[in-house]
Amino acid sequence: MAATTTLSNTPATDPVIDPFGRSITYLRVSVTDRCDFRCVYCMAEDMTFLPKKDILTLDELDRVCSAFVRMGVRKLRLTGGEPLVRRGIMNLINGLGRHLESGLLDELTLTTNGSQLERFADQLYAAGMRRINVSLDTLDPDLFKKLTRWGRLDQVLRGIQAAKDAGLKIKINAVALKGVNDGELDRLIAWCGDEGFDLTLIEVMPMGDIGEQRVDQYWPLSMVRADLAQRWTLEESDHKTGGPARYFDVKETGGRLGFITPMTHNFCESCNRVRLTCTGMLYLCLGQNDSADLKEVVRAAESDGPLEDAIRAAIALKPKGHDFIIDRRRRPAAVPRHMSTTGG
Ligand code: SAM
Ligand code: SF4
Repeated sequence: MAATTTLSNTPATDPVIDPFGRSITYLRVSVTDRCDFRCVYCMAEDMTFLPKKDILTLDELDRVCSAFVRMGVRKLRLTGGEPLVRRGIMNLINGLGRHLESGLLDELTLTTNGSQLERFADQLYAAGMRRINVSLDTLDPDLFKKLTRWGRLDQVLRGIQAAKDAGLKIKINAVALKGVNDGELDRLIAWCGDEGFDLTLIEVMPMGDIGEQRVDQYWPLSMVRADLAQRWTLEESDHKTGGPARYFDVKETGGRLGFITPMTHNFCESCNRVRLTCTGMLYLCLGQNDSADLKEVVRAAESDGPLEDAIRAAIALKPKGHDFIIDRRRRPAAVPRHMSTTGG
C-alpha cells in the first residue's frame, strides 16, 4: 500500500524555535531498528529487536514527518537501523517526495550501509533524492567483515557504484576506531578523491551497551587530523551541509574531508535537529534522554492538531547540549540507547 496521499499538506509555518533560540529545521528519522549488519561499535551480535506493534506504520511515519514539514522542517534524513531493509520503504520515500515537489522540503536524504543500494538507487533518485550518506569504515574486505560481522564489501561497493550511476551525490561516513581502521584512512581519502565522494570521519560515541570497552576504540579526531596532516595538505573550508561536520579541502585529491567531533568539540550551540525513532519517540538530543512519545498522540487522534501541539511542547524541552564522556571510571554507556535506535 502506498504511503498516504490523503494527509493534509497545508503550507509551512516558520520553524519552531527552542528555548535557546535554535530553529528546528532538520528531522532525522530512524525508520527501523533492524539491520542486516552487526557493526561492532553499534550493535551486539545477538540484538533483540522491537515487536512490530511498537513500530510506527509507514502511514504513521508519513504523518509525523509531514507534521514536522508543515512546522518548518526543511531537511529530512531517513536512517535506522538500516532504512533500506524496512519492508515497503519506497512507499514512504515516494510519499515524502511530494514535499520536495511542493517546495516545503529542501532535501530528503538517507544514511545507509549501502547493502541494498544496488536494488534501490534508481528508485531513490526518481523519488527526488539527490544526496545520500553511505557508511564505510574500510576498503579491506577482511576488516570490513570483522567490523560489520555480517556485511560483504563487494556488495556495498556495487551499491555505491549503482548510486553513483543513478546520479546520487555520495558522502562516505567512516567511524575512526583506534587500533582498528587507523591504517585505512589514507586509502579511504585517496579512493574518495578518485570517485568524487566527500568523506566524513566520526568519533565513536558512547551509545548502547555493546559488550566492549569503548574507551579502547575511542580515537579523538584532533589526533587523527594531526596524523593525517603529516601526509595530506588539509585546508580549512567553509563548506556546510546543515550537519555538524567541519570540512577541509584535501589539496592532493581535490576532495573534501569532514570531521564530526561530538567528543572533542561540542557543536551543540548550532544544533538545528531533532530525532524520531521508529517507535515514535522524539529525542531532542542524540546525547540526552529528554524525549516525547508521539506514537500515543498519533494513535489517539485522527486530526493532526494534537500531534503538532505535542511536537511544539517537546521542542520546548530541547536541552542545551549533550555531555558525552568516555572514561574508564564510567563503564556503562552514557546513553543507554544504541545508535541504531535513535539513528546516526
Ligand atoms: N545503517 C545505516 C548506516 O550504517 O549508515 C544507518 C544507521 S547507522 C546507526 C548511522 C551511522 O551511525 C553510521 O555511520 C555508523 O557508523 C554510526 N554509528 C553507529 N554507532 C556509532 C557509535 N557508537 N559512535 C559513532 N557513530 C556510530
Ligand atoms: Fe547496522 Fe548501521 Fe549499526 Fe552498522 S552502523 S549495525 S549498518 S545500523
